[in-house]
Amino acid sequence: MRNQVKILGVPIDQITAQEAFQQLTVFLEGDTLKKVYTPNPEIIMVAQQDQRLLNVLQEADLVLPDGIGLIIASKIKGLGLKERVTGIDTMDKLLTYCGEKQKSIFLMGGKPGIAALACETMKKQYRGIKIAGFHHGYFQETDEPQIIEEINQVAPDVLFVCLGAPKQEKWIHKYRDQLNCKLAMGVGGSVDIYAGTAKRAPLFFQRLGLEWFYRLIKEPWRAKRMAALPKFLVRVTLKQ
Ligand code: UDP
Repeated sequence: MRNQVKILGVPIDQITAQEAFQQLTVFLEGDTLKKVYTPNPEIIMVAQQDQRLLNVLQEADLVLPDGIGLIIASKIKGLGLKERVTGIDTMDKLLTYCGEKQKSIFLMGGKPGIAALACETMKKQYRGIKIAGFHHGYFQETDEPQIIEEINQVAPDVLFVCLGAPKQEKWIHKYRDQLNCKLAMGVGGSVDIYAGTAKRAPLFFQRLGLEWFYRLIKEPWRAKRMAALPKFLVRVTLKQ
């Protein structure tokens, strides 16, 4: 049975990191593509103005409560989300599992050259990992049939899509019936972290749920986007 809570109309799965990982391993044995997203408050706010994005999130097979803002919202409203489940930690567990079980992955997204670099790190970090392919994320819409063809030729078990949110969620949704893989997961800037061109917040910030703050210091131009967090909390608080 799938337990979900709704935050501003977006269904979020009520699961722990371990339960999420177990669910993904079940998806890997299925025979249809499963769509997995990790929305943060900013994306939930975008979905308030973007009905298409809201539908995409509502039709996901698993929505991870990424971002401390969701956990705070859950506490304010007594929704019972169990814990924060980040996309990058889930990806790490999944890559370890894929290495052990001989499952293959395809990495899509990032600036040209970045996905290739990220794959090199993955090969070193995850014993036995099968990289079926990679592709950068700066293509035209007219290139997409060719990219789908490239992915389907190698039929990876997992497709990681790093086009930034909400582009990656819409992209996965658009091609859900054409993609020949078991699992497609939108994981934003993870490609840059594996490539080593971006750094994750130190553990100290991670543990306190302050990764957003670390990112704000490192990438101050995000301040405008991040203003969505207080707006999100006010909206959640006021909503009946
Ligand atoms: N990106 C991409 N194609 C695009 C736009 C973005 O491949 O058209 C990549 C970008 O290079 C970065 C990733 O998407 O590697 C995620 O970007 P960002 O960190 O802004 O996304 P977030 O994780 O905050 O959603």
